[in-house]
Amino acid sequence: MRQKKRLGILGGGISAVSLSYLVPRGKFETTILEKENTIGGLARSFNKEGFVFDVGPHIIFAKDKKILHWMVAMLGENKHRLYRNNCSFYRGRFIKYPFENGLAALPKEDLFECLYHFINNNFTGEPKNFKEWMYATFGKGIAEKYLIPYNKKIWKIDPSKLTTDWVGGRVPKPPIEDIIKSAIGIETEGYTHQLHFYYPLKGGVQSFVNNILRKAEARHGKNLMIVTNCTVVSVIRRGEEWVVMDNSGNERVFDILVNTMPVHVFVGKIAKFISKETRQDVLHLRYNSLALVFLGLEAPKRTDRFAIYFPEEDTLFHRVSYNDYVSPHLSPKDRSSVTAEITYRPGDVISKMTDATLTQHCVHELHAKGIIDRRTVLLKDVLRITYEYPVYDFNYAPYTKKVYGALTSFPNLYSCGRFAEFRYINMNDCIKSAMEIAKKL
Ligand SMILES: Cc1cc2nc3c(=O)[nH]c(=O)nc-3n(C[C@H](O)[C@H](O)[C@H](O)COP(=O)(O)OP(=O)(O)OC[C@H]3O[C@@H](n4cnc5c(N)ncnc54)[C@H](O)[C@@H]3O)c2cc1C
Repeated sequence: MRQKKRLGILGGGISAVSLSYLVPRGKFETTILEKENTIGGLARSFNKEGFVFDVGPHIIFAKDKKILHWMVAMLGENKHRLYRNNCSFYRGRFIKYPFENGLAALPKEDLFECLYHFINNNFTGEPKNFKEWMYATFGKGIAEKYLIPYNKKIWKIDPSKLTTDWVGGRVPKPPIEDIIKSAIGIETEGYTHQLHFYYPLKGGVQSFVNNILRKAEARHGKNLMIVTNCTVVSVIRRGEEWVVMDNSGNERVFDILVNTMPVHVFVGKIAKFISKETRQDVLHLRYNSLALVFLGLEAPKRTDRFAIYFPEEDTLFHRVSYNDYVSPHLSPKDRSSVTAEITYRPGDVISKMTDATLTQHCVHELHAKGIIDRRTVLLKDVLRITYEYPVYDFNYAPYTKKVYGALTSFPNLYSCGRFAEFRYINMNDCIKSAMEIAKKL
């Protein structure tokens, strides 16, 4: 009889690393298998010519005080706390973020329509989809000027085809007092759970994940093994055990398996042990991909803003971040950087653009809008991430139920994290999920 159970964690993002820390001490031999050459997943950073970029700008926050406390403790000394200084770019103006809290900066006609329709909202009945929810919650003005175009850009689908299942915690309804104050120019704040956030002083968000890993290694010693450059190619059930094969032909045997890889990937790996129906069902879970355009600039930080949201159709990107806002150590001296984010779907126009074309578009649009001076662009890089946003369309509820119904029927198998659970969640909820699984082990 083995003294310690063998725990295999597939994928090495923040869910995996957090879980590896959280597993009860002395009871498990844990192995993380990660296909990239570094841990971190969506929360990783890379250094190119002295510029540190997050693979999608990240901030560290949580509504849940216990999780926030855990995250702050994991950051250790390498952290600072920041105020969210974001805005939206609307008709050539910078509007404080979220849009409904910056109404006073709108052109007068737009301001009137936003305020009038918020107060005098003629939407009746229960909203049946996300589009109706936006009308019902914010009124025609804010919905049509900002929320609908912005969400179309992100989700690549008409918001009437999305459910409201995910919006509750993410898009809070502002009180009428705040809207009136915002309209007459009295400062108010929305989305207050992320009004202040933490960020590592050095090393980008990657250093947060690295810190968790360091603490996990200190806690578990030789009972924790990290294998990078290791692509899981198949997962089989042999008797009471899980057998995982990697791209180098290695076979590893585990008593318990936690999948943190995207569920689409995992179902493919375990295909022989899962019904054809489940393999079809997972294909109904729609997701979007993201292209990131990273620009290193031969110019010092030019603004005290962090992220700018772009609802208008004439720009390819939906968000641009001045990375140096979150840390002075992300760029070499007297230089700075920005990251532009563009969602796309397989086969659409953006997916077919070459990296060079994508970059060219971004530089042109950023220059035209005064976000950067194109003459200062020193470094360009592009990264595409396939699994970025789970899409809550009307297939979401029935098909997640079917897919997870099938996966949870296996003994000693857990799903943990954003794409493994197929939920639109941030790092805090990935950690929460890891905490819940650790308790069950
Ligand atoms: C653009 C963007 C911005 C974000 N901003 C924030 C933010 O500001 N704050 C916040 O809290 N959260 C943010 N998030 C969300 C956050 O990044 C995720 O919730 C979190 O990182 C997900 O972690 P995970 O471990 O569940 O999944 P992942 O990070 O996706 O990890 C899964 C891992 O599995 C690996 N893998 C895949 N296939 C295989 C295979 N065959 N074999 C082995 N390994 C494999 C992958 O390489 C990856 O490392 C953001 C997300 C995005 C996309």
